[in-house]
Amino acid sequence: MEKKIYLDESEMPKKWYNLAADLPMLPPLGPDGKPISPEMLAPVFPMNLIEQEVSTERWISIPEEVQGMLKIWRPSPLIRAFELEKALGTPAKIFYKNESVSPAGSHKPNTAIPQAWYNKQFGIKRITTETGAGQWGSALSFACALIGGIECKVFMVRVSYEQKPFRQILMNTWGGTCVASPSMETAAGRAVLAEFPDTPGSLGIAISEAIEAAVTDPTGKTRYGLGSVLNHVMLHQTVIGLEAKKQLAKVGIKKPDIVIGCCGGGSNFAGLAFPFIQDKINGDDIEIIGAEPASCPTLTKGTFMYDHGDIAKMTPLLPMYSLGHNFIPAPIHAGGLRYHGMSPLVSAAVRAGYVTPIAINQSECFEAGMLFAKTEGIVPAPETTHAIAATIREAKKAKEEGKEKIIIFNLSGHGLMDLVGYDKYMRGQLSDYEMSDKEIGDNLHQMDGYPKP
Ligand SMILES: *Cc1c(COP(=O)(O)O)cnc(C)c1O
Repeated sequence: MEKKIYLDESEMPKKWYNLAADLPMLPPLGPDGKPISPEMLAPVFPMNLIEQEVSTERWISIPEEVQGMLKIWRPSPLIRAFELEKALGTPAKIFYKNESVSPAGSHKPNTAIPQAWYNKQFGIKRITTETGAGQWGSALSFACALIGGIECKVFMVRVSYEQKPFRQILMNTWGGTCVASPSMETAAGRAVLAEFPDTPGSLGIAISEAIEAAVTDPTGKTRYGLGSVLNHVMLHQTVIGLEAKKQLAKVGIKKPDIVIGCCGGGSNFAGLAFPFIQDKINGDDIEIIGAEPASCPTLTKGTFMYDHGDIAKMTPLLPMYSLGHNFIPAPIHAGGLRYHGMSPLVSAAVRAGYVTPIAINQSECFEAGMLFAKTEGIVPAPETTHAIAATIREAKKAKEEGKEKIIIFNLSGHGLMDLVGYDKYMRGQLSDYEMSDKEIGDNLHQMDGYPKP
């Protein structure tokens, strides 16, 4: 069997798959506890993306211009991890979808390009956003450069801003501008800095700043773009799983036994997994695993509830698993995936029993990432190592059981801009940190008066 399974450009998906057509969802709520209307989101997002956000149509056409831009790197290869299999001595067949081949180095341009395109169609001139490790800020800067005529302004979580200067340069190279968050540019940022001047920042804070910067633009030509969590982002990412299915079919595989992705806000996981969840809903026997960090255990220890997506409570209340919007991740954690909430669609899929969530400590993840780099060659993003660690666990299980399982995981990105995390791991400077039940309980108290799903 060949190592790399390619598709022709003509075989790229022409439609996105919308899981909301097959999975009942609770509506997002406004501050008064009543379901929000699309108009209420209009200051934040362009209406064409809001329509996708609330759509329950099963298939949504990918605009031809967007397909053309995705062709810069898509279809992405599906790769058989022969060398990793050999190192593990497993009878399992391990495949990975290599999303690290995009210009920004991750899956995120799959949604950055359509988001920038729909904003441009709607007459928007500037997009604000947040970024954690810098992947999303880079992806959106890249997308705005391709589309042309749209500025990109990024609020980057301060601890990453200081640790990852190369991500800032990448954003600047594509024409984006980037400030450390919390910043003095917004009321939300100033409020956090007044109370916690030394804060490392968080995605929840950066989202508040980016939304504020969008909705307070007096020209009305600025909107906000989110790189994960929302339904339309999950939708755009499904090109990953739709391609993967065709690629598996090319080598005679009708269905995988196990599908694995890492979970931050849920988008790369959703991208690979949702087309397989559709098959599972229709009766296929597939195990689908979402891997998250033990230090930010949203799915495994969080509560399914209505919560805000950001610290300043600017977003509607979303029905999702959450650790509470005030969550600030432990600064020792180098593995990414530090968001307090989880995509409502991914949350609904977990609740319905289609997805098994697991939490893994960062030392096991970096060890898995090192083994992957030494066998398959690609240095994975720290986020991605959670999926690799989960894959290795399953491959070892298959060995114990003597079963030739088909495992596919999403290689969401490479780690060439995240080498500081690897350096810390190799120097023995990373410790594991599991959030205690007390800590989680204390953080969730703030949610006591909120509507419950
Ligand atoms: C952003 C990112 C993630 C986490 O975000 P999701 O929305 O959960 O996919 C995972 N891997 C990489 C490489 C990323 O850049």
